[in-house]
Amino acid sequence: MSLVLHVDGDRWRAHLRTVAEARPGLVPVAKGNGYGFGNGSLARRAQWLADQGAGCDTLAVGTYAELPDVAQRFDGDLLVLSPWRPWDDDGAASTSDERVVHTVGRLADLAALVEAPGRPRVVLERLTSMKRHGFTARGLREAAALAAGHPAGVRVEGVSLHLPLDTADNLAEAAELMTDVVAAGVPNSTVWVSHLDAAAVADLAAQYPDFSFRPRLGTELWLGDRGALSVTARVLDSHPVERGEQFGYRGRSVPRTGSLLVVSGGTAHGIGLESPTGEGSVRARAATLARGGLDALGLAKSPYSVAGKARYFAEPPHMQSSMLFLPSGVDVPATGDEVDVRVRFTTTTFDRVEID
Ligand SMILES: *Cc1c(COP(=O)(O)O)cnc(C)c1O
Repeated sequence: MSLVLHVDGDRWRAHLRTVAEARPGLVPVAKGNGYGFGNGSLARRAQWLADQGAGCDTLAVGTYAELPDVAQRFDGDLLVLSPWRPWDDDGAASTSDERVVHTVGRLADLAALVEAPGRPRVVLERLTSMKRHGFTARGLREAAALAAGHPAGVRVEGVSLHLPLDTADNLAEAAELMTDVVAAGVPNSTVWVSHLDAAAVADLAAQYPDFSFRPRLGTELWLGDRGALSVTARVLDSHPVERGEQFGYRGRSVPRTGSLLVVSGGTAHGIGLESPTGEGSVRARAATLARGGLDALGLAKSPYSVAGKARYFAEPPHMQSSMLFLPSGVDVPATGDEVDVRVRFTTTTFDRVEID
């Protein structure tokens, strides 16, 4: 039973090098499921980039709990993207770790870090239009003043800006927020940015030549060349069925004569969590109803392709396998055959990652 991520190693590594060259100051991000690869594997790859002289002196993780997975595999600094909070025991335990850089977005947390053992390294986060974490303009001034007043308490490593995904206004927003950064007099001129493309960072750097900008990249780096990645499942079983026959966990009846195909990959792998595919508009829906397609019968499109076409789930995915419906006339693949699967890498747990 397996859902496998196949990586064309040469092509993938070439892409990583290209991104590292195009994005000076790059900070690779390894968090969550490690973008499908696993965080440990990404940490090793970040070290490989660093060893090639591609910069990469810092690796970012999402949470303190993720530090142990990467700390032995990557030699450089470790930036934690989630804000430091006093109740997070892993965060509290790492204040005297010289390699860890903490993200701080509340004055009370900064005050606690000033008093913490060691001289914690901190990045001050400015709240963006995301409204997730961070200081207001005034809060950033107060934080910079607090840090400047306690140089032995914390070491400021710059400011963080986490912008929304894919909006055309990110450059304008970043440029505006830079006014607050300048006004705050933060005692370090590094600005750690997310979701700004290379041109936007270059533009910002030209507008603010006294600052250095460090792009934090996950998706663009690890998943930016989709052609280097493919995902396959295996056919585990198949059963010819007549229209009206019962099947599955819920005793449904088969909508038409055809075959049930049992394939590897289920909810435990994240199958079925993909963002819904197109066909969502009323017009598209009306068109499929008119065609009498399988979705008109209440079936949902699956991410599995058989004989070059995306197929329908016969019923919701099971924990480790899924049942597809193949209409009669489609060649039924043999047990053991591989089928292609289109997944969202950040929500998929693969049984294996094969890098050739
Ligand atoms: C996850 C995350 C990133 C990386 O996001 P991608 O879209 O995968 O590049 C960057 N910055 C922060 C603060 C994040 O949480």
